[in-house]
Amino acid sequence: MGLPILPGQSIPIPPRPPADALKDILASLVPMAPETVDILAAHNRVLAEDVTAAVDLPPWDNSAMDGYALRASDAAQKRLPVAFTIKAGDVPPPLPAGQAARIMTGAPIPSGADAVVMREDTDETDPQVVVLGTSTRPGENVRRRGEDVAAGSVVSRAGTLLGPADVGLLAGVGRARVRVSRRPTVAILSTGDEISEVGSPPHPGRIYNSNAWMLAAAVLEAGAQPRVLGIAADTQAALEHALRDAQDADVLLTIGGVSVGDFDFVKPALEAVGATLDFWRVAIRPGKPLAVGTMGRTRVFGLPGNPVSSFVTFEVFVRPALRVLAGLPGPHRRRVTATITAPYAKKVGLTHFIRVNLERVDGVVRAHPRLQQSSGALSSISGADGLMILEDARGNVAAGESAEVMVLREAWDNTRGL
Ligand code: AMP
Ligand code: MG
Repeated sequence: MGLPILPGQSIPIPPRPPADALKDILASLVPMAPETVDILAAHNRVLAEDVTAAVDLPPWDNSAMDGYALRASDAAQKRLPVAFTIKAGDVPPPLPAGQAARIMTGAPIPSGADAVVMREDTDETDPQVVVLGTSTRPGENVRRRGEDVAAGSVVSRAGTLLGPADVGLLAGVGRARVRVSRRPTVAILSTGDEISEVGSPPHPGRIYNSNAWMLAAAVLEAGAQPRVLGIAADTQAALEHALRDAQDADVLLTIGGVSVGDFDFVKPALEAVGATLDFWRVAIRPGKPLAVGTMGRTRVFGLPGNPVSSFVTFEVFVRPALRVLAGLPGPHRRRVTATITAPYAKKVGLTHFIRVNLERVDGVVRAHPRLQQSSGALSSISGADGLMILEDARGNVAAGESAEVMVLREAWDNTRGL
């Protein structure tokens, strides 16, 4: 389906509807092959194997309390000689009938004993004899071998997104490494003679490279591995050279130079290195000049340079794609229906993504459009809770109308009047 990009050609195709564009992008992706990593590196990744417990957890009956192991049937005697002390890590001898063993939490229950009386319920004045202040039932304060996980059972299934407790469970059954979906590597190439790298002094005519770092953070957050490549000058030769450097990445994001300006060389440079373009331009604002294609084994997203356009096209198209590649469940952001609190001027024809803050009032979610909505304004996205989606068919929107919002910051609901 790739269209060859001919030098100087303007593609006589109307901008793609965003939903179609996203559907095509996702349908064309094959999730990454799995790899084996240390269990800590597996955190926040998707398990690619069923993990079976090689051992029982706990491995033996053990005490849930610091106290005295005994036969529950001996508890009626109230005073029992203390036969020995068992600490965690010990392998105790059998407990003689009519006696008790001092036992620490996690230590193995000696054979013969079937219950533990907690220390707090005893009188320990005489270290040789324990005086029980309470009766006990068989099994009380005993954690049974295999009651948590039985050897041979599946502790975690392929497809599980591993969180801290899952990592703990893998460790608990002795696994040091597991197979997980590989994170796609994402090369990020900035373009533009006016862009200078952060850390360098301010320079007339230059602006700092905000987009590459914003996108690298977004790539990390999406579960992929960013590689910031640097800044290519606005010449076709410089771009071709830089593109060749990106060919080992799973995904390449270029920033800027993809519009119709005199120095927008990203498309011809892609063509020159043998890439095909699936489409260029989507019917959205901001972010219309998005280009999507393939360069060898690398999926390419030519993102527009305006910071908000870069951000929105990443959110709408690239983030879901990275999550599919990474095998992560639910590639899409959560959406909530919200009521807009101020009018918004919009023409029919493009889907607008407007930056909003969210608030829940009496169970209704309100979306306050941020005052700054320019596609160049980083401040409009920093601090936004979501992107309200005003579909192409909508015209001007009045206060009180509702629309769906892609939630960018789940925290909004926790911090504002839930
Ligand atoms: P372009 O599409 O290359 O014409 O860029 C559109 C706008 O985005 C221009 O104002 C650029 O200066 C700005 N821009 C492009 N790349 C970046 C970047 N990496 N960081 C910040 N702004 C950028
Ligand atoms: Mg540029």
